[in-house]
Amino acid sequence: MKFKIAVIKGDGIGPEIVDQAIRVIKKIEEKYSHTFELSFCLAGGNAIDATGNTLPGETVETCRASDSILLGAVGGPKWDSMPSGNRPENALLGLRSELDLFANIRPAIMYDALSDACPIKKEFIEGGFDMVIVRELTGDVYFGEKGRKESGGVTTGYDIMNYSEKEVERIGRRAFEMAMKRSKKLCSVDKANVLETSRVWRETMHRLRDEYPEVEYSDMYVDNAAMQLVRNPGQFDVIVTGNLFGDILSDEASMITGSIGMLPSASLNETGFGMYEPIHGSAPDIAGKGIANPIATILSAAMMMRYSLNLPQEADAIENAVKKVLDTGWRTADIGKEYISTSEMTDRILSYI
Ligand code: NAD
Repeated sequence: MKFKIAVIKGDGIGPEIVDQAIRVIKKIEEKYSHTFELSFCLAGGNAIDATGNTLPGETVETCRASDSILLGAVGGPKWDSMPSGNRPENALLGLRSELDLFANIRPAIMYDALSDACPIKKEFIEGGFDMVIVRELTGDVYFGEKGRKESGGVTTGYDIMNYSEKEVERIGRRAFEMAMKRSKKLCSVDKANVLETSRVWRETMHRLRDEYPEVEYSDMYVDNAAMQLVRNPGQFDVIVTGNLFGDILSDEASMITGSIGMLPSASLNETGFGMYEPIHGSAPDIAGKGIANPIATILSAAMMMRYSLNLPQEADAIENAVKKVLDTGWRTADIGKEYISTSEMTDRILSYI
């Protein structure tokens, strides 16, 4: 089959790790007789340098005309003093809103071979964990009315939190569908004991629950969820939550896997079109040294095959190869004292595909 992929390498380690994911994509192309047409576009700091604009219109158009997007990471100290609105990170917000990428899917898996890297005591992670956090990405307090008011010489900042039933329903449905494909267990996280927004969230989720009687559904307050993630992460399978709570909980979940360089993510729209990227940033401290872990980006390419290109067998082949390499004991610098380089790690992964 033939697919069009828009590729944004980005800044810092972005180009190094995306190049490795491309090697994996080429191997899949060859082995499974597909054609992946790659279109390279600029976004972030490199786009500011080349065009003055963090997200050139041409990039958005190329992404729109593709089946999916693979992105490395954007940002770095060089662009930290750019005016807000044209900072590298605005490229991500722009792509999410231009392409209506409302569903952020973040798996957090603790690989057996890496259990020593987990910062939680062994007794709490017995049996490991394998969860997915489904975070709403285009609403909530991040996109509500915001501003400052002055009164009596005192400045007050405000950001309005809101969710419509419609917004909750589309992310909720995505989460229920995900649960149906996994172990049919879904936990919805809110703060319904305090927030009206959360009460609308919870009522909407309960209406959806009736449509998915096979799914074992539960509600959890966000403060308890934050605690349960470090107390007993194995209890979770799929978690669904809003933009703000999801931002915090998904970082917490990735931290407890012990390896920021290992975790992929997807941001999807209603039709399954998506942008795939590692959860980490551009790691300027190690850029150009050839030691970045390419696995998060390689697993992002696997997620792309599974969710946007409908190639589950190919996705399995990549994920199994990563597992085998870790089981064999190969490590990059972030996860091992004795380590191999970025491209050597990819060589090992390719050898198992
Ligand atoms: P970071 O994730 O880039 O780095 C945090 C730490 O993790 C660093 O020590 C880094 O060396 C290490 N690390 C990250 N990825 C790694 C990998 N693949 N292999 C080995 N080690 C890895 O976060 P930061 O330092 O807070 O941010 C750096 C820049 O990235 C900033 O400009 C920030 O705005 C940007 N950022 C971009 C994205 C994105 O593009 N989606 C996300 C987060 C941060």
